[in-house]
Amino acid sequence: MTARLAILGAGAKAVAVAAKAATLRDMGVAAPDIVAVERTAVAANWRAGGGWTDGQHRLGTSPEKDVGFPYRSTILPGRNGELDRRMMRLSWQSYLVATGRFAEWVDRGKPAPTHETWASYLRWVADAAALNVVDGEVIRLSLEDRSWVLHTHTGTVEADAVMITGPGQPGRSVLPGHPQVLSIAQFWQVSTMNQRLDAERVAVIGGGETAASMLNELFRHRVSTITVISPQATLFTRGESYFENRMFSDPTDWTGLTLAERRDVMARTDRGVFSARVQDSLLADDRIRHLRGRVAHGVAADDRIRITLHTDRHGERLETVHGFDLVIDGSGADSLWFLPLLGPDVMDLLEVRLNGPVTGDRLQQAIGHDLSLAGVAPKLFLPNLSGLNQGPGFPNLSCLGLLSDRILGARPGAQSNRTNGRNVEYQSI
Ligand SMILES: Cc1cc2nc3c(=O)[nH]c(=O)nc-3n(C[C@H](O)[C@H](O)[C@H](O)COP(=O)(O)OP(=O)(O)OC[C@H]3O[C@@H](n4cnc5c(N)ncnc54)[C@H](O)[C@@H]3O)c2cc1C
Repeated sequence: MTARLAILGAGAKAVAVAAKAATLRDMGVAAPDIVAVERTAVAANWRAGGGWTDGQHRLGTSPEKDVGFPYRSTILPGRNGELDRRMMRLSWQSYLVATGRFAEWVDRGKPAPTHETWASYLRWVADAAALNVVDGEVIRLSLEDRSWVLHTHTGTVEADAVMITGPGQPGRSVLPGHPQVLSIAQFWQVSTMNQRLDAERVAVIGGGETAASMLNELFRHRVSTITVISPQATLFTRGESYFENRMFSDPTDWTGLTLAERRDVMARTDRGVFSARVQDSLLADDRIRHLRGRVAHGVAADDRIRITLHTDRHGERLETVHGFDLVIDGSGADSLWFLPLLGPDVMDLLEVRLNGPVTGDRLQQAIGHDLSLAGVAPKLFLPNLSGLNQGPGFPNLSCLGLLSDRILGARPGAQSNRTNGRNVEYQSI
């Protein structure tokens, strides 16, 4: 019987895993049946209407970090070279060749593609890999005997293992429904409809890639000052040297670092930091400033939105209030977004496994080598929470080829208690 892996969301990770599984099957190697349950369409989050972009902004990482990157497969001893060569047929460059754009891309200096073009690439791969997509929004995840059950409004999908993907829901707002407060999705809707925002003092809550795209867009609008609110001491530039990038592409040495060292690397390279390109092009603009703090709440008063911030000073919590004409809540990305979907049976299972309430920190520290929650069967793959234990590239686009090796190298029904193994444990599935 073929095992079935259900993937919540047909985004970059689902496409990468499906591509590797299809390639393995082409080579005569057994691989699980992949089914992605998707509420919109393949790669929806990379296009206008998905809520995270208007599709016109550019990818932050190199497009050569594609579904097969770093092309160093380890799951098929003796045939890994062949596997990588076959995966190259689904690479970003193969896509450009197939669509007649390779020479132009090279001649233009290999520019970063727009999110829309990246979505087209992912769709091209999904078609080539014949990714099985079930339409529907997953509204609940439960357990039945030894299977996962993904519930949508119109039906259910059963599977031997499940993988959760995506950054969460872009509709979060510090003051829902107020016209002077926009969620990420509302901001991109305004932009896609070519409406112009007109405001004196604008606040963008949150740092990182989501905020960077929004800042880039905000310059087209009539705004006098833009205040980026984030908990960090300042707006750090992402560490992008070979040594830092290597940690994302090749996490071999990652588990040898202490937890404190890993957290330090992630703080410099991943969490709420802006790329050097963004720092150069955007932050030089004197309309932008940074305000340190965590947003506690927002209220509307006297035509303004008053945001209350909490900051820690010498161990004491300081509370300050700041007024803005427009607030864009860019804090929607949340690696724990799926927790409300878990039924009580699943929460009980996780609490037993984690020896306590389900928290982000406990989950992160329980992620095993195969990117699933160690000790939980049937398997629950949580790549977006695997950065701390397994390598900072797994939650993003930095090593999708390695991610698919880890996922497909796992035995869907087996329990694993390893959280720090080094060798890929390939078992025929
Ligand atoms: C604006 C922006 C720019 C970014 N740029 C980069 C970059 O340059 N480099 C990089 O490495 N990372 C970048 N990221 C991070 C990026 O989110 C991840 O790298 C990558 O997309 C994760 O892939 P994924 O498969 O987990 O999720 P996604 O590709 O986001 O796919 C998730 C899918 O799940 C679907 N979905 C969501 N909820 C449900 C539900 N309940 N039921 C069914 N389907 C659902 C969505 O419709 C979507 O298709 C960026 C993120 C944002 C928001």
